[in-house]
Amino acid sequence: MANVKKKLWENNGTISATDGIRASSLNFEKGQRTRHQQKGNGFGSKTKTEPHRQSLNDSLEGDVRAFLIDEETLHTYDDLTKVNPVTPTTVLKCLQARYRVKVFYTHAGCTLVALNPFQPIPHLYSLDVMKEYHFAPQPQEFKPHIFIVAEEAYRNVQGQVEPTDQSLVVSGESGAGKTWTSRCLMKYYATVAASSSSPKCQDTIERIEKRVLDSNPIMEAFGNACTLRNNNSSRFGKYIQLQLNRSQLLVGASVQTYLLEKTRVACQAANERNFHIFYQMMKGATEEQRQEWRMPRDQLFAWLPNADKSLEEDCFKETTDAMKNLGITKEKQGQIFQVLAGLLHLGNVSFCPPTDESQPCNLEEQSKDFLQCTADLLQISEEQLLACLRLRTLRAGKQSVLLKPCSMAECSMRRDCLAKVIYAQVFDWLVTFINRSICADKSSWCNFIGILDVYGFECFTLNNLEQLCINYANEKLQQHFVAHYLKAQQEEYVSEGLKWSFIKYQDNQSCLDLIEGNPTSVFSLLNEECRLNRASDARQFRTRLEKELSNNACMSWDKFSKQPHFTVSHYAGRVSYQIEGMMEKNKDPVPPELIHMLQASHDPLLQGLFAGQNTEESSGRGHSKVVTVVSKFKNSLDSLMKILHSTTPHYTRCIKPNPECRPLTFKKEEVIVQLEACGIVETINISAAGFPIRIPYLSFLQRYGMITNSRICKQSINENGLEPDKNILGPAVADVLDVVLRSHSLDPSKPSETDSCSSLVHCGKTKVFLTHSMLELLEGCRDRVR
Ligand code: ADP
Ligand code: MG
Repeated sequence: MANVKKKLWENNGTISATDGIRASSLNFEKGQRTRHQQKGNGFGSKTKTEPHRQSLNDSLEGDVRAFLIDEETLHTYDDLTKVNPVTPTTVLKCLQARYRVKVFYTHAGCTLVALNPFQPIPHLYSLDVMKEYHFAPQPQEFKPHIFIVAEEAYRNVQGQVEPTDQSLVVSGESGAGKTWTSRCLMKYYATVAASSSSPKCQDTIERIEKRVLDSNPIMEAFGNACTLRNNNSSRFGKYIQLQLNRSQLLVGASVQTYLLEKTRVACQAANERNFHIFYQMMKGATEEQRQEWRMPRDQLFAWLPNADKSLEEDCFKETTDAMKNLGITKEKQGQIFQVLAGLLHLGNVSFCPPTDESQPCNLEEQSKDFLQCTADLLQISEEQLLACLRLRTLRAGKQSVLLKPCSMAECSMRRDCLAKVIYAQVFDWLVTFINRSICADKSSWCNFIGILDVYGFECFTLNNLEQLCINYANEKLQQHFVAHYLKAQQEEYVSEGLKWSFIKYQDNQSCLDLIEGNPTSVFSLLNEECRLNRASDARQFRTRLEKELSNNACMSWDKFSKQPHFTVSHYAGRVSYQIEGMMEKNKDPVPPELIHMLQASHDPLLQGLFAGQNTEESSGRGHSKVVTVVSKFKNSLDSLMKILHSTTPHYTRCIKPNPECRPLTFKKEEVIVQLEACGIVETINISAAGFPIRIPYLSFLQRYGMITNSRICKQSINENGLEPDKNILGPAVADVLDVVLRSHSLDPSKPSETDSCSSLVHCGKTKVFLTHSMLELLEGCRDRVR
């Protein structure tokens, strides 16, 4: 490895002073692979004409200028750690200045900040740009870009000691650009890691890279919707693992989804829409399909609001083409769309009160045809459907069954429940199918790069269980981020014997304890409530929360609020959750008779979807075995966190510059809230306050040993080139540093104005810690003696 590394070093050009952290992590710390250096002929680091490359001098100038906030040159700072002082205001100004000149990516120490331009930027993601970043010996010398993160993760897979899986965590609020960024990353890997020899599997099924990419339009058609915040808002979380073989070629992928917002199928907020797929069907169906699905062009559906809004996402053909490419047959597609059409008709079924209260509710006159269409399309009996919607089955003992008429509200709830349960099953079926189509055999891949695209922190006027789950997931991710970067960095300083004035970072453990902790937390109390299987009372539950959890500092109550609620102080801000309805949502009950009815359907898709479903209902009294929504979510999140912990993470924070999604519009007040919510200032501080460059002794001597006496260097590396002798390395490193410092008459305890550390260089136990300016001096000396 030492030799490989040496060669790697010799082949490389200069190291960017603009990006010490990445320079160190990529080249020194991890000792990366050489494939790119060998390939790197056309896109070398020395070609200054490349549009994405910036010269070292430019960056240094940027450094000097950064010392004082100069509005005119602020846009040149490619790393927010260079803004001095680092405050929310200076960071904001810098990002705004860059946005003004259409620069959308900025490093923030170990994180990449991505501002959404809200308009296509020509050439920013072209194939040529991908190649540039991919083949560059030092991509981090180029302008900040999502491709730097992509390439760094790609190279990191072949770790120094052993191959390491990577995770790209993309966060940000709705509409900030997470899904766009994730798609961009997937395209990058589908391009740079495409296996040229991969055969076309079958005539009907496309190559693996294409299939992996084609999973996007399918999942977006079925899982995204137009909301007030984003025309193409993902209503589910997604973690996709791109599987790489030993040669780092993409051979497959697997997708895990989280918490689909299934209520949207039956209930859309004002000015929002249902999932895209319904509009795609309505707009893109052939005449034949329209007849089959009983969907004439002018038909109005209650669950298809704002159908007149025309969106580019309404492209049925793109979805069906992608489905075909993944191997979903025309016949299967037909079954899926037929069921979805059935749901649209179901949405037009409504009830009116009975004349006699002991009787079930009546169907509204105009609902009769829709009920019949629903039954036909779902291939179930019309009578059974009507009975299921308006009669509750009560079991008294094993044999006897009572049918109790439902109230109007209950009838609507059962109708909505039927739609939700079917839609969620169809979505899960698709995800399973996609996985079957794109997942490689375990023996054919050895590492993965995971891309996480999850809903960001949410705080609405009314928040309920969905927001609690989403914000809980964000707390978990924030904790992972803090643990990984901030703690790891500080701990390294301590273990290397460096003095470090610890920056206080917000530890969100107590908030997580409040939500999910043992033995008592909001989740545990909610679950207990469900287990007891009694009629839930919001006020009673609030009292319980107060009694059990008021000693947690993250819990509070707004004394003036009339509705029962509780307020959680999240790392990203305080959110009040209404309790009304929360327990029911957690139970998410499905009447067993609905499942029985679907199991009896003649439709092969529905039969398959519900065949194995357990309808063991919770017995009327006592404890129920229902797996609650929060338990399911916590379990899936726990396994995600386990995977994330086993990988090297890379964080990208997407920022939404204005709430109206207007092109190139930067609203300071919008951005600052998001910067605070993701703790960006803390991240920058911790990255900037330390030594940005860390080089293990051995690597240091391999590169700079020539400045003093190469004999010492050779001695310091054992014959096998792997195990350095620390007793020799230490003095050898000190020698090199001494020569360089003396030749410039420098005092190491007096760093340059551009450095944010209190000294130029520090020797830890196994590593040399450097400032940017010290690195420059070393590089200069090295050039002179070569
Ligand atoms: P999120 O997933 O965070 O909710 P999206 O990724 O769906 O947000 O982005 C919202 C919209 O912003 C996209 O539909 C697209 O129009 C625009 N957008 C996001 N990122 C970019 C980008 N890098 N370049 C151009 N437009 C973008
Ligand atoms: Mg999204």
